Amino acid sequence: MPELPEVETVRQSLQKKVAGLKIAAVKIVQPKVVKAGPFEDFAVALLGRTFIDFERRGKYLLAHLDGSASIVVHLRMTGRWVYCKPDTQLAKHTHVIFQLSDGNELRFTDTRRFGGMELVATQNLVEYNSLLKLGVEPLSEDFTPEILCILLQGKKSKIKSLILDQTNLAGLGNIYADEALFLAGIHPERKAETITAAEALKLHHAIQEVLQKGIANKGTTFRDYVDAEGQQGQNQLSLNVYGRGGQNCVKCGTALGKAKVGGRTSIFCPACQPTE
Ligand SMILES: [Zn+2]
Repeated sequence: MPELPEVETVRQSLQKKVAGLKIAAVKIVQPKVVKAGPFEDFAVALLGRTFIDFERRGKYLLAHLDGSASIVVHLRMTGRWVYCKPDTQLAKHTHVIFQLSDGNELRFTDTRRFGGMELVATQNLVEYNSLLKLGVEPLSEDFTPEILCILLQGKKSKIKSLILDQTNLAGLGNIYADEALFLAGIHPERKAETITAAEALKLHHAIQEVLQKGIANKGTTFRDYVDAEGQQGQNQLSLNVYGRGGQNCVKCGTALGKAKVGGRTSIFCPACQPTE
C-alpha cells in the first residue's frame, strides 16, 4: 500500500506534469470508484476546470481545481495515477480517464478497487470526515518530540499499532513503521507508555528520517507502486528490516525476528530492539 513517501512522490509528479492543465473530457469506466459529493454529476462538474495544484494529507491526495472544487483521492492498496500519451495502451482496471488540454491523459487505475475519489467543494474540505480524523503530519513543524511524548503517555497499546494509527500520525504504514522502530532501537511490541523521553526523541528523529529518505528515493516499490510517470521507486534497495524476514540484522548480524502486531507482519532485530 502506498504510504506517505509514495503518495508524496505521486503528488510531486502530478504537480510537475498536470498542474495548470485543463480537463477537456472525463470518461468514467467504473462509476463505483467516483463520488460526486454535492455536485450532481462527477464528469459534468469537472469539465473545463483546471488543475491548480496537488496537495497531500496523510495517505490522501487532494487535487485542487479552479472554481472551488477539489478531488479527494485515496489510493488504498493498488490505486494509481498515470499521466500518459492518449495512444498508450489502456491498462486493465482503468476506471477514470481525464483528457487534458495538453493532449495527454491522466488515468486512474486500481486493480483491487479499494481506492476511489470524491469531488468536494474546496471550502468544505475542512469538514471532510476522513481528513478531519487524521493525526499530525510527521514531516510538519507540528510534529515535535513533545507531541510524540504526549501521544505515548498512558497508552497501553503497542508502539507499532500506535504509530500506524492514522488518527495519531498521518501517513505511516507498515514499511516505514518497521524501519523507524529499527532505527530507534524500539521493539514493535513495546507498550507505548513504557517508552522513555530519550527513546521518544530517537523515534521522532527516526520517523522523520525514514520518511524523508523514502521521498528522496521516490518511494518503495515491492509490487505495484509506481509514480504518475510510471517510474518505480528506489527505496526498497535501502531498507534495513522491512521485507528482510529470515535475513540477518545489518547492524549486528543477529537473525531478524518476525511477529504479528495489530494484524501486520513486523520485522525487527531482537538484539537491537529489545522487548524492555
Ligand atoms: Zn541488530
